[in-house]
Amino acid sequence: MENYFQKEIETASREEILALQNEKIKKQVKHVYENVEYYRKLMDEKGVKPEDIQSVEDIKKLPFLTKADLREAYPYGLLGTPLNDCVRIHSTSGTTGKRVVAFYTQHDVDLWEECCARAIMAASGTSEDVVQVAYGYGLFTGGAGLHGGSHKVGSLTLPMSSGNTDRQIQFMMDLNATILCCTPSYAAYIGETLAEQGYQPKDNKLKAGIFGAEPWTEEMRQSIEKSLGIKAYDIYGLTETSGPGVAFECSEQSGMHINEDHFYAEIIDPDTGEVLPEGSKGELVFTALDKEAFPLLRYRTRDICVLTREKCSCGRTFVKMCKPMGRSDDMLIIRGVNVFPSQIETVLLNEGYSPNYQIEIDRKNNTDTLDVMVELTQEQFSDKVADTQRRERELEGAMRTMLGIGAKIHLVPPKSVVRSEGKAVRVIDKRKLH
Ligand code: ADP
Ligand code: ZN
Repeated sequence: MENYFQKEIETASREEILALQNEKIKKQVKHVYENVEYYRKLMDEKGVKPEDIQSVEDIKKLPFLTKADLREAYPYGLLGTPLNDCVRIHSTSGTTGKRVVAFYTQHDVDLWEECCARAIMAASGTSEDVVQVAYGYGLFTGGAGLHGGSHKVGSLTLPMSSGNTDRQIQFMMDLNATILCCTPSYAAYIGETLAEQGYQPKDNKLKAGIFGAEPWTEEMRQSIEKSLGIKAYDIYGLTETSGPGVAFECSEQSGMHINEDHFYAEIIDPDTGEVLPEGSKGELVFTALDKEAFPLLRYRTRDICVLTREKCSCGRTFVKMCKPMGRSDDMLIIRGVNVFPSQIETVLLNEGYSPNYQIEIDRKNNTDTLDVMVELTQEQFSDKVADTQRRERELEGAMRTMLGIGAKIHLVPPKSVVRSEGKAVRVIDKRKLH
């Protein structure tokens, strides 16, 4: 039996969802035009008036917003309500530069938490569950979002925040946590630490994990599911659209349903800005349909992704997004070839290595260099230099097949790659320092 938080809307017909979106967008564009001077100017420059937007079909007439706009408008320039009506501020993790801040009214917080509640229930959560929230609490949206969602479901919430892994494990075991929420890299770390402490996957009461906030591969999912003895579900979101819960995975575990009653999604060509037909790969763009305080229209996420509308066995009708294939600005161009860190992760896990790795890029004699530090597990760890060298050459072969360019592999002893408690830093690009 599929588990829903708001079954009626989550399984509504396509026509019903469209009608709701059309009704909301008209109101939302009017709200933004009247209250957000920054965006009003962009609309005026483009010659678009609120009356021109009568349905979601018309959204393509609106100007885009980018991270650069958010920085320029920092801190209050995109605020849609008086500051006095806001009850919360969050901020991005600053993965790719200066932080941006987002504002929330109580209505916005409620909608956001409902989205997270949908995600928890889609991952089989109920009021009987003990939900361990090991995303960071604070300015980062991860902790607050899943915390609020867990409350809405009526689960018993364990507000651990990230870090202090020994205490995470102690509480997980003593208080019988059944659902773990954190970044996938931290879930992998917790799984590794559990094993080191002598626990088998069956020793914990966890049944599911809700992992997101950073890219992770299918191979990583399998590895976490095995080490924790759970089902691992993906969740997606960004501070600019409220936080996690914009999209979430269901029992099918094959892509994330976008909460279309609150967010209208488009896929565009990142170079031309042209809207691409369904099923095309491109940059994901979101329009918040009913947020009050930080109502971004056509926000370019820079996440590269595909949307599909195939019927899902869970009964949900919301469109599905695939795992983001990295951000457009995550993509590494090495010797002219496009490389995504996720491709490297796939090779490593397929070849039986741990998800503990770091990628280093540099430029020597005008040529880009790509080095991958890969940690050996205790069992793989061998003193025999020849054996290590053979493994390195093998892995270099597999890497060349996947990437189309050569990478230098360095197998390093167990525990030499730093573990992540939040978003993992996988890439060190030294070219930028020169
Ligand atoms: P920052 O941009 O500073 O990292 P956020 O904390 O708001 O700020 O992160 C949002 C970004 O995190 C998204 O745009 C996306 O690139 C990434 N992200 C979030 N969830 C996922 C996920 N499930 N899979 C892959 N990437 C994700
Ligand atoms: Zn589904």
